[in-house]
Amino acid sequence: MITKPKGTYDVLPGETRRWVKLEEVIRKICALSNYEEIRTPIFEQAGTFHRDESDASDMVNKETYDFLDRGGREMTLRPEGTAGVVRAFVENKLYTNNGITKLYYLGPMFRYERQQKGRYRQFSQFGLEAFGSDSPLLDVDIITTAINLLEALGLKGIKVRINTLGDKESRDAYRKVLVDYFTKHKDELCEDCHIRLAKNPLRILDCKVDKDSKALLEAPKISDYLNESSKKHFEMVKKALDNLNISYTVDEKLVRGLDYYSNTVFEIEYTSTDFGAQNVICAGGRYNDLVSDLGGPKTSAVGLAFGMDRLLLALEHEGIEIVKPKRLHAYLITLGENAFLKGVSLVSELRKGGIMVDMDYNQKSLKAQFKEADKNNAKFTLILGDDELTKGLINLKNNDDDSKTTIELEQLYGYLLTHLPSKKCNVCKEGKE
Ligand code: ATP
Ligand code: MG
Repeated sequence: MITKPKGTYDVLPGETRRWVKLEEVIRKICALSNYEEIRTPIFEQAGTFHRDESDASDMVNKETYDFLDRGGREMTLRPEGTAGVVRAFVENKLYTNNGITKLYYLGPMFRYERQQKGRYRQFSQFGLEAFGSDSPLLDVDIITTAINLLEALGLKGIKVRINTLGDKESRDAYRKVLVDYFTKHKDELCEDCHIRLAKNPLRILDCKVDKDSKALLEAPKISDYLNESSKKHFEMVKKALDNLNISYTVDEKLVRGLDYYSNTVFEIEYTSTDFGAQNVICAGGRYNDLVSDLGGPKTSAVGLAFGMDRLLLALEHEGIEIVKPKRLHAYLITLGENAFLKGVSLVSELRKGGIMVDMDYNQKSLKAQFKEADKNNAKFTLILGDDELTKGLINLKNNDDDSKTTIELEQLYGYLLTHLPSKKCNVCKEGKE
């Protein structure tokens, strides 16, 4: 038997409905905050992600799916959304509008990782990117939109952690101090941190291996090396979050896995104790140099990415059901050849009129067909036999109260329309539930 690749999973019927619903809620929240969808390729030229030698992130160094296409070109399956969106932003000159460009994306990402609950080789992210302003309040717009999504989904037990990495000047000053400090404490660091020390010493701070070591706990803090404008930026972010009543904690060890961040960085955790280790559901920050790194004009930007798989796992863990059980409006049972044939056109007409209806194509026994109606959780079971058909009648059973009635076939559509709940879809505001 051929099986799925390690680190991937099939989303089966039932589960897909949760994904579609999550996407619907995301799109609605994005529309409310004026973020527009962008769709970029799932693979990009390798250089989009493998930009320079100094990148010490595991994601870029160890986790990408790199391949040569049949023309010998180096390609990479996207491990994250930001680089591709920035590439598209530059290539399509979206910066020429001179204002703020707010984009969102969602879709699969690929990383060669060790599989565990909440960590896969193919997973999905939803992300926001806002270009064209250095305002700390745009950072807050991004964080607020994330909180709005979590509120719309009803997920509780959320913790927001924020930090600042300062602007380039502050970071350079801090980096120098860190290198001196960690060079003195090199013996206390893990092998990976030796590489980080040479490539990107800030990343030592979020090393999972060394996190409780004395060297890390006593390391110099970024807050002591921020210049005035970096301090002001961070103060403004905190003040605006306070005004919005969004609670957060400042975590000076938060530096994020990717190397392109500056100033604000943040993570959102789902804190339920027995959820498991992979509890960071959203992460983001400001990246003022990425657009120019990818060949565009200097453009400030800030963004975030949600792990959609982890978000759905957290909702499940919290017992939050975002979709109702599947329910057909009607299920048609037929008895006899003529009724069977008529049934096909009846079902087709009803479907055109917006009625969710199905029928049995195996012409099973009456009992078996009733079972099918049950299995599909039909509100009405419609029973059409050759006898009724000649009289132009059809039998109906309302499965909510088991009441039965016989009506004229011609009145069926009108009857169903008036007897089905007419709740509008709360996302598109159209149609029957
Ligand atoms: P982690 O520390 O868990 O490896 P990360 O820093 O690599 O996370 P980001 O690159 O910031 O993660 O991606 C944003 C979000 O995407 C994460 O917070 C997480 O929710 C989700 N995510 C990242 N990698 C995976 C994965 N392999 N499987 C499922 N979700 C993931
Ligand atoms: Mg990772």
